[in-house]
Amino acid sequence: GSELFLPGRANSRGRDIADRPTLSLLDAARAPFRDATWQAAPLLAGAEGSGALREIREPATGRPVGTVQEADAATVAAAIAAAKPWSAPLSDRAAILTRAADLYEANEGEALALLAREAGKTLGDCVGELREAVDFLRYYAAQAQGPEGDGLWACVSPWNFPLAIFTGQIAAALVMGNAVLAKPAPQTPLIAFRAVQWLHEAGVPRDALQLLPGGAETGGALTADPRLSGVAFTGSTATAQRIRRAMAEGPAGRPLIAETGGINAMVVDSTALPEQAVRDILASAFRSAGQRCSALRCLYLQEEVAEPVLHMLKGAMAELRAGDPWDLSTDLGPVIDAQARDGIQAHIQTARAEGRVIAEIPVPSSGTFAAPTVLRVTGIDDIEREVFGPVLHVATYRAADLDRVIDAVNATGMGLTFGFHSRIDDRVQRVVDRVRAGNLYINRNQIGAVVGSQPFGGEDLSGTGPKAGGPHYLPRFGATPPGAASG
Ligand code: GLU
Repeated sequence: GSELFLPGRANSRGRDIADRPTLSLLDAARAPFRDATWQAAPLLAGAEGSGALREIREPATGRPVGTVQEADAATVAAAIAAAKPWSAPLSDRAAILTRAADLYEANEGEALALLAREAGKTLGDCVGELREAVDFLRYYAAQAQGPEGDGLWACVSPWNFPLAIFTGQIAAALVMGNAVLAKPAPQTPLIAFRAVQWLHEAGVPRDALQLLPGGAETGGALTADPRLSGVAFTGSTATAQRIRRAMAEGPAGRPLIAETGGINAMVVDSTALPEQAVRDILASAFRSAGQRCSALRCLYLQEEVAEPVLHMLKGAMAELRAGDPWDLSTDLGPVIDAQARDGIQAHIQTARAEGRVIAEIPVPSSGTFAAPTVLRVTGIDDIEREVFGPVLHVATYRAADLDRVIDAVNATGMGLTFGFHSRIDDRVQRVVDRVRAGNLYINRNQIGAVVGSQPFGGEDLSGTGPKAGGPHYLPRFGATPPGAASG
């Protein structure tokens, strides 16, 4: 509801898919794109690009979604040479990005279809993502002020929010007056291709925004280029560190804004409302098949409530349906690809061999599905590596050990989201004071940060800050730091 929004700003209303007429409208809008295929390629200011073709298929069904020509190193170099910072007045840039938001909404059916088919997302997730993308465009357009930038930014984005995060990075760099070289994730170039076309159509000059689809080769060539003024990256900590090292070879002082993963915990104490906690655990751990940086990985239950909460959780999980994300009765789609599925399943297998599987629900055997699973861990300090999928680790704790739990979570060195369920205010305050996490959620789920209301970002190994969708993000894209070329 609009009460969530800060004064003077209006997030898009989004769509209430619990409302039957709205649901029918959305289903009808995306229907023409059910069997469509898309052909994508680098979108460049100058000559045509070169590079290998990649086929994109629906992760749930293997049906073709389209093909993309990826950008090889020569194409990356040519794009950088042709890039020009966007010199139009700030108010014009903001107006064009606002117009782009309208165009995204005008293309709602196609966007929802592409997100479902290319990224394997349920309709609810697709709707939320389109809304977030639009909000980023409008929010940054409304927030922008000097000192402006005039450099070249690489924006390197992940497949888990292939429209929202992709758009957020680009919008921020552009509205501040920079040129952008956007590299989407190799799994999701088609929605990125359409988004850049909508941005161009809205009036963003082609030399201010170029698209370089591709994988590690493309990204490596791009982020190692000394002509860049900065890099905005969302993805794994390992890749962020690689980019950091590559940038260190070039001119000093160039910003890297990195958003990476988390080993996100939730603590449920004995005063929490079990029904509410279970609802929020389900959403946090399993929505988007657990493929959010923000998703819940480690659940700590105070021992007095562990049994009833787990009992209810199992019952609720039994109601979840995994399947083709296009199907409106599906709660949970596939994971992004076979490699992701295999990694998640190996993790579950190890736990199974050790007798630690508490609950799991069946998934289709074809397609890249990973079964939503709850695993017991051996103790408070037995914190797992991040498993980027629908796998929830559970530990119990004694009331006297609450601080130890928080210390164990802090000791991971990551700090993205943290959830706490309790009805004791003093205890909530104690946890808030002690925990190191970018986004802290009390008595609710811990996913789905809202642009402008809940800036999103981590601490320590989870990210460099500043938080996306918050007031400190844009200044980082301002005035080109000393030592960097201005293009
Ligand atoms: N902003 C998203 C959320 O709050 C997560 C973004 C990500 O996974 O990188 O759920």
